[in-house]
Amino acid sequence: MQKSWIDSANDGSTDFPLQNLPFGVFSVAGDGPRIGIAIGNRVLDLRACAENGLLDTLDRPVQDACCTPVLNELMALGRSAASAVRRRVMELLAEDAPANLRGRMEPLLHVAEQVTMHLPAAIGDYTDFYASVYHATNVGRLFRPDNPLLPNYKYVPIGYHGRASSIVVSDTGVKRPSGQIKPADAAVPTFAPTRLLDYELEMGCFVADGNDLGQPVPIHEAEEYIFGLCLLNDWSARDMQAWEYQPLGPFLSKNFATSISPWVVTLDALQPFRVPAFQREAGDPDPLPYLNSADDRLRGGFDVVLEAWLSSKLMRDEKLAPIMLSRGNMRDLYWTLAQMLTHHASNGCNLRPGDLLGTGTVSGPGKDSAGCLLEMTRRGTEPISLPTGEQRKFLEDGDEVVFRGYCIREGHPRIGFGECRGVVLPPE
Ligand code: CA
Repeated sequence: MQKSWIDSANDGSTDFPLQNLPFGVFSVAGDGPRIGIAIGNRVLDLRACAENGLLDTLDRPVQDACCTPVLNELMALGRSAASAVRRRVMELLAEDAPANLRGRMEPLLHVAEQVTMHLPAAIGDYTDFYASVYHATNVGRLFRPDNPLLPNYKYVPIGYHGRASSIVVSDTGVKRPSGQIKPADAAVPTFAPTRLLDYELEMGCFVADGNDLGQPVPIHEAEEYIFGLCLLNDWSARDMQAWEYQPLGPFLSKNFATSISPWVVTLDALQPFRVPAFQREAGDPDPLPYLNSADDRLRGGFDVVLEAWLSSKLMRDEKLAPIMLSRGNMRDLYWTLAQMLTHHASNGCNLRPGDLLGTGTVSGPGKDSAGCLLEMTRRGTEPISLPTGEQRKFLEDGDEVVFRGYCIREGHPRIGFGECRGVVLPPE
């Protein structure tokens, strides 16, 4: 497999080998945000590449889009534009690139640890789905023991419109929100900081060029509308959620913060890790025709390992390593990305470049692959023990949640998503 002339990209443990090349937005001290590509432990400045003539093989609009401070313009040019940029950058960074190129590129590469990452796009709209049947069943059982999975689940990719304004990039602290809470034994609700703060381990999906209002997206074209994927933490206040969610679904229990990882991994980079869509149980209905395609059944899934890690403030003070809470896989989602996107646009709703879709909590069948504390601790009845002797039912102030995602397949370099981090800050 092809190597890069950047040594750290050839280390088998890196998330960012030559075969990944995810897009993000970064800045260095004293300068504004610009588009970059991660390679090993470095970040390549795409604007500087364009300004130095290194992207001259690309169409002018594509070069111009690389010089903007967010990815929206490049997204709007469609998946093929990003593919062309990625192919060109792969040529520039490959070990067989002409030696004189390396000299020209060295000044355009930053040490990743020294740059500040920003949101990759101006996110206009954000929709969160509920695509894991394991999550839906486990959570449903906690709230409705007799009737865990509602009858629409296997027909409709369930989702709700989230809030784009409170999406933050990894490493942004998340303040414990206050809201209406009504304990089961109380007659009336109170307004107080949430006591049941949780994370949800999800994938985020950025829309490339959108569809026109009134124009649905056929399922066989759906992936042309996807720019790439990131990690997503849908922070959730369970006590607020339990009180507010009926009849219209989650509202303030979800929209106080959503964290995403800064690097967007393209579907091109993920191609070696495609797998069949979720195998429906015998007796499950087939998807309705507009959500059903042979190609999507054959390769609509993605084999992405997803891990959630936790460290308490006391653990960090005592220099203890974070502990892994769960390890799941995106291939366990009942609905594919193509089905979610097609369903979203099926009524003519227009998606726009830079819109973000969340998959919903990615949970597997077992407790060790539960993608949130609500499921893992069975609503707090089975607490987790930390190496300090502390216990966790839900998140405490000072807790840091870290998500990691990566793909492994024999004969291919490992690729990863980097991290999505967030520390819980106390309420004011
Ligand atoms: Ca969610």
